Amino acid sequence: MIKSRSSVYIVENDIFENKCGGIRIGTNYSASVIIDGNTIRDHTGPDIFAINSSEMGLTDNVKTEIETMLTKIQFAEERLEYSRTPIITNRNIRRNNNTGVQHPRKAVQIIQTCCSCYRSSFQLKKCSNCGTATYCSKKCQKKHWKKHKHMCKLLHKEYTIQVQMKDTKPVMEPGNVRRFDSSLKGIKDGPKPNPLSTKKFIVKVQSGQEYGCFNPNKMHTLYNRSLTLDIKLSNPELYYLVNECGILAGTALSTKKIFCWASYKCSSAILCIHTDNLPPFQSW
Ligand SMILES: [Zn+2]
Ligand SMILES: [Zn+2]
Repeated sequence: MIKSRSSVYIVENDIFENKCGGIRIGTNYSASVIIDGNTIRDHTGPDIFAINSSEMGLTDNVKTEIETMLTKIQFAEERLEYSRTPIITNRNIRRNNNTGVQHPRKAVQIIQTCCSCYRSSFQLKKCSNCGTATYCSKKCQKKHWKKHKHMCKLLHKEYTIQVQMKDTKPVMEPGNVRRFDSSLKGIKDGPKPNPLSTKKFIVKVQSGQEYGCFNPNKMHTLYNRSLTLDIKLSNPELYYLVNECGILAGTALSTKKIFCWASYKCSSAILCIHTDNLPPFQSW
């Protein structure tokens, strides 16, 4: 992750298997960035994502949007137009990236030690519920439960997060219009899921603000492509799912998003979010 004023030479590295992609470059003002001779491979996200590179080619209205935003904050003299374009040579090998989201069981690499004290032992016992987390003792397992309890459910092959619709809020107050980044394609189009049907449809779940501290009760936004559903909600299981399996969203540098299959239950009183099978990454 390169941003603000990073002067960096990334040369001849093997960069692999990051959930959010290989190298991500934000607005970097006047510092120079050279990326040369690296192998960037097997990432869930993109190989190199740079908001101000000739490769990305930001559309003019996005540029204007970012510039307007930057003039309002500090260092107004360092606007996007002064940001130096990173030098990315053609000697970088990019292979098997953008592989999409993974099931939590794949995304969470459990190292073969006790998950609580990180000691290795020949007598590690598995959590009987998920069969994945390992512990050296009952004491360690008990101590770790507060951290593990939400992940434990997500580590099941099949798990459905259930959200009571009455506990959610609309994203916008009535009458206000929601604006989306112009890089999102096909938003507001597509079929409208029938609230009385149990048929599955794809939703996008997005974590809020950048650089928030650890907070499983943090608000997330959730919507489907046609925006028939567009809600804010807090749910610890969803928080862990987005954190562990989500991908960095659009031009943001730390907010994550994930696409999931969802369905209604009990005449749309309950929204089910299924984690057994995740849909391919969407453009909207
Ligand atoms: Zn232990
Ligand atoms: Zn478990």
